[in-house]
Amino acid sequence: MPSFQTTPGTRDILPPQAGRWREFTRIFASVVESAGFECLIPPMFEELGVFQRLGDATDVVTKEMYDFTDKGGRHIALRPEHTASVCRAYAQHRPTPPWKVWYSGSNFRYEKAQAGRYRQFDQVGIEALGADDPQLDVEVIALGWQFYQELGLRDVTLLINSLGDAGDRSRYVQALETYFRSRISELSEEAQQTLERNPLRVLDSKRPQDASVIADAPSISAFLSDDAATHFASVCAGLTALDVPFTVNERLVRGLDYYRRTTFEYIASSLDNAQNAVGGGGRYDGLVEDLGGPATPGIGFALGIDRTLMACDAEDVFACGSPEIDVFIVDTVDGTRATALAHALRQSGFSADRAYEGRSMKSQMKAADRSGAGIAVIIGGSEAEDGTCTVRNLSTSEQITIPVGELQQHLQSTIGPREPRRRSS
Ligand code: AMP
Repeated sequence: MPSFQTTPGTRDILPPQAGRWREFTRIFASVVESAGFECLIPPMFEELGVFQRLGDATDVVTKEMYDFTDKGGRHIALRPEHTASVCRAYAQHRPTPPWKVWYSGSNFRYEKAQAGRYRQFDQVGIEALGADDPQLDVEVIALGWQFYQELGLRDVTLLINSLGDAGDRSRYVQALETYFRSRISELSEEAQQTLERNPLRVLDSKRPQDASVIADAPSISAFLSDDAATHFASVCAGLTALDVPFTVNERLVRGLDYYRRTTFEYIASSLDNAQNAVGGGGRYDGLVEDLGGPATPGIGFALGIDRTLMACDAEDVFACGSPEIDVFIVDTVDGTRATALAHALRQSGFSADRAYEGRSMKSQMKAADRSGAGIAVIIGGSEAEDGTCTVRNLSTSEQITIPVGELQQHLQSTIGPREPRRRSS
């Protein structure tokens, strides 16, 4: 047993899995950048107060925050999510609205670690600030949907709901509280505790004992103001017009307190019930104001990378690959020719790897096979003597010996042209 291991709820994302994460973010960026979203990189920690705005009825704030006092006496927290930081950034820098940004990075929540639930987990997401147009809700929701489609996921469903404006939401919460109290003895002990903290979250209970009480609970639609109801109807109509399939679920409340009006969640039916929400988001009109900025509407979503990749595995899509190497150099003389040749090939835009420590021809050829390269360039004693190299196709085993000076041209014509890397002059 080594002295140290990763702490509970954290993991090393090893290769080739880590490469898959990078590719995931690359595809995400290409989808959302095609809609005018630009990358934003907020800090990983902020003053605790930034995240306290997520609401004191939120587990993320009350139980799960990684917070500490720094050497300057500031009360700091590792970010549990990105939205509050994005709103803080908006309030601080006052960009011209609409401000459309995307991000990717880790969040930290002191949760009970289990499959699909980590204490450090990664998300990609977008936020659009400064417009309350329902067409923006449609764009945001549809982009998340399009991204899942591009990954190849087919068993993802979209749930949407409206939580109304602040007043609608608090009237609804009151009605829920009165209702749940009237049937409190039928609720599970856990749901009874949740009721004390946040009646809305009782709707999230997946315990069979709570199901029938929840089924008869009042619905949010009866509490929506005319404006909120019209907004929601436009969002639904917009999604229908884009052929994005969705289900209205009036029990969808989501974990964070700041949501207003539109909320939505992407559910992977291939995953276990407890971890099948692969992403979600909603409107948070009011959050920028809470953080000291101007009154600003906003909407966005965050998609969990860990869970979305679990869904990809379950559906056998977006497979994990290793970066492709063009050429593996086998130098059985003293290794210096491999160093020079690999350097020259890489500068010309080829990817090249090699073996170390003067291994035997057999062991280097095995390493060449393992590398996934299509071609081995072999330099043995006789090649070194007459300035040649042997180029071996590792799938057909065909090989020819050519002058080293002709290698690059030969590779260009067999595996295709490469763009030289830029050099400083
Ligand atoms: P949230 O920020 O809570 O709205 O969550 C958005 C998405 O992030 C969820 O749908 C999950 O995919 C992912 N997520 C949230 N919490 C965790 C966690 N503790 N571990 C892994 N993924 C998470």
